[in-house]
Amino acid sequence: MTEAADDERRVLARVLRQSLESLGRAGVDRIPIASLGAIAGPIPARPASPAPRPAPAAPAPRSPEVGNTLPTPPPSRPAEPPPPRVERPTLPPPVAASLFGEPGLAEVVPETDRAPQLAVLAAEVSRCTRCAELAATRKQTVFGEGSVTARLMFIGEAPGADEDETGRPFVGRSGALLTDMIGKGMGIPRAEVYIANILKSRPPGNRTPEPEEVANCIGYLERQVAIIRPQFLCLLGKTAASVLLETALPLGKLRGKWHRYRGIPTIVTYHPSALLRNPAWKKDAWEDLQILMQAMGIKPPDRKRPG
Ligand code: SF4
Repeated sequence: MTEAADDERRVLARVLRQSLESLGRAGVDRIPIASLGAIAGPIPARPASPAPRPAPAAPAPRSPEVGNTLPTPPPSRPAEPPPPRVERPTLPPPVAASLFGEPGLAEVVPETDRAPQLAVLAAEVSRCTRCAELAATRKQTVFGEGSVTARLMFIGEAPGADEDETGRPFVGRSGALLTDMIGKGMGIPRAEVYIANILKSRPPGNRTPEPEEVANCIGYLERQVAIIRPQFLCLLGKTAASVLLETALPLGKLRGKWHRYRGIPTIVTYHPSALLRNPAWKKDAWEDLQILMQAMGIKPPDRKRPG
C-alpha cells in the first residue's frame, strides 16, 4: 500500500469515527451496515450535522451484529434533578385545637365559597320533606342568617310562628330579646354573628322536636357549622344543648361553663323565650354572655345588661 493510500485510509477512518460519535451524541445507537458507506463516502470538509433525535417511544430493535452497535452515548448534559416536590398547603388547625386540643372540623371552607355553599344548602333544606308532619304544616323553612365569617354562632331549638311566617330565625319577642343580648349586651351587631336552629321547620304548636325530627335535620346544622366554622358557639336552651352536647343534664348544670362541640368552645345559656317567661334568669344569662365575651376579647359596651 502506498503512502498516499495510507493517508487516505487514516483520513477516512477519522471521518468515520467522527461521524459515528456525532450520531451517538444525537442518540443513534445503531445503524445498518449499508449506511456505513454513506457515512464514510465522500470525505466532508467538516463532520456532518447531528441527525435528529429519534422518537424515544419507538426504539429500533437492537442488531445482533456487534460491529453495528454504537456504545450508548453519554448524555449531552447531566441529568436534571427532579422538580422539587410541591407540598399542599397545610390546613389550619381545627378551630378549638389551640384552645382545647380536641379534633375539630375537618375542612376549612374558603370565605368566598361559604355564601354559595350555604345558598345551595338552604335550597336543599327548602325542599326537604323528611319530617312529613312538619313539611306539611310549615309555611316555609327557616335556614338561618348572619355573617358567613361569624366568630360566634347562636343555635336555638326550632322556628316558632313568627319565624315560620318570615323565614328568618329569632324574630318576634324572643328574637328582639336575643338581638338585645347580642347588640346591647355584647356590643356586637346582630349581622356579625350567625343564628340558626336545630330544626329548620316549625313543629306544630311550637312543641318540642321529636328525636326522629332532630335526627332528620341535624345534618343540615352540622353542614352550616362546618361551612361557617365559627370560633365560638352559644347554645340557646335545653334542646340545643342536649342535642349538640349529647347530654341529658338539665340546663342549670350546663350553663356557666365551657363545653365543646366538634372542638368549638361552646357556652350554654337560656333560650330567650325562657328569659321572657322567667326574667330573673336574665342575670344568669348575662353571666354566660360575659364568659363568652371574655374568651372573645370583647369588652362590654356602656350598657352592660340586656333587657
Ligand atoms: S325539620 Fe329539617 S329534616 Fe324535618 S322536614 Fe324540616 S328541614 Fe327537613
